Amino acid sequence: MASLLCPSSVAKPGAALFGVQDASGHVEYLDEPIVVDQTFVDTARQGRVPEERFRFASNCAKTGCGHWDSGHAGCSLVGKIVEAMNQKADATLVACPIRNQCRWYHQEGALACANCDEVVRNVRVKALAEA
Ligand code: SF4
Repeated sequence: MASLLCPSSVAKPGAALFGVQDASGHVEYLDEPIVVDQTFVDTARQGRVPEERFRFASNCAKTGCGHWDSGHAGCSLVGKIVEAMNQKADATLVACPIRNQCRWYHQEGALACANCDEVVRNVRVKALAEA
């Protein structure tokens, strides 16, 4: 199986842009992910921090990531997000272009998606990770 993707990656060349925060603070998912290059990253960094307004995915680093839970062989962050956001799973999943490879969906299913669209890495995820 191809490696799963972390849906809370940093902006870096090769990462897949798959969501953009809208004016209400929610993430609008793109129809197709866009693999970004150095030029995109450099340009995006001239404005507001890209991880506060875009969502990027890249390969899950597993043991190379501080959120990896070796005991459960999974990402510990998604469980914290589901608990903190506390949204019930929707009957209909929001369209998301990375679902087939998403680490969070792989672990938590529809609950992950129901609690995903207010997450932007540098704000909420950081606060949750430090909680
Ligand atoms: S949790 Fe669901 S909505 Fe969020 S990135 Fe993964 S598949 Fe997409």
